[in-house]
Amino acid sequence: MPRHIAGHLQSSADGSAVSSLLPETVSWPASEIPLELFSGMPEGYSYSAFAFENIVYGAVLLKDDDAHFVESAGLKNGVRFPVRNLALNFSSRFGRFVLFAKAHAQWASVSRFCGACGSPLVDANGNDEVREPLDDHAHGARFCPRCKRIFFPRMSPAVIVLVRKDNAILLEHNVRFPGNRHSLIAGFVEIGETLEEAAVREIREEAGIEVKNLQYVRSQPWPFPDSLMLGFIADWASGEARPDGVEIDHLDWYTANNLPEMPMRGSIARYIIDTFAAGGFSAT
Ligand SMILES: [Zn+2]
Repeated sequence: MPRHIAGHLQSSADGSAVSSLLPETVSWPASEIPLELFSGMPEGYSYSAFAFENIVYGAVLLKDDDAHFVESAGLKNGVRFPVRNLALNFSSRFGRFVLFAKAHAQWASVSRFCGACGSPLVDANGNDEVREPLDDHAHGARFCPRCKRIFFPRMSPAVIVLVRKDNAILLEHNVRFPGNRHSLIAGFVEIGETLEEAAVREIREEAGIEVKNLQYVRSQPWPFPDSLMLGFIADWASGEARPDGVEIDHLDWYTANNLPEMPMRGSIARYIIDTFAAGGFSAT
């Protein structure tokens, strides 16, 4: 990412956050991107442009061994950072910037070839061959010069639900969670499902209970790799909660003054749980 933004991040972060050598996203003003790099790189780097506060940036997903690319692109003075932590731990403004950059870089990294004919894709924005009028903000769209298809950045909707029962909420430990961390029931929406159907199905599958009074709360883009999290609350209706034993190895009802290890601050799960704990959702 550009140093002037990185410098701003450094001023509000501890040093360890920006000295990471993990492969992550880099972003910098799009006009400074040497585009020839992306056609000639045998390892297949790809970039995506995105607008943030009226400036167009380019984002690239770096790889484990990318010293040659970093040097060729003039990025040696760039600053690397762990995207996931920054998206959650910085101000909402920089968190949004990081999420945009990661989403676009991720999309570009898996959108290098046409899914229909296999030809290399190019940037659709500003391409004279693109007949479909693109919105000004349609950055990141890819175009197949051979079969003329346009591909827009993809996201995968997932529902996440806080289930209430009396003054307690259902929290579960996914087998992939570190330590004793518990969170809300969540899962991807399947093709053909409404969000509501997905929420009810996931709760039934993971906890074996039925719910009622499902209400939408808010959403959060979560590009790890490409989710859009859609948050709901619901009330327990029937059944005894038990873990599915596959994805979920423990779950229980917790009151606001007796919560287990929580999801990261800044995540939508944490927001919904904190809102409940503060008495923020009206009883139904
Ligand atoms: Zn094609």
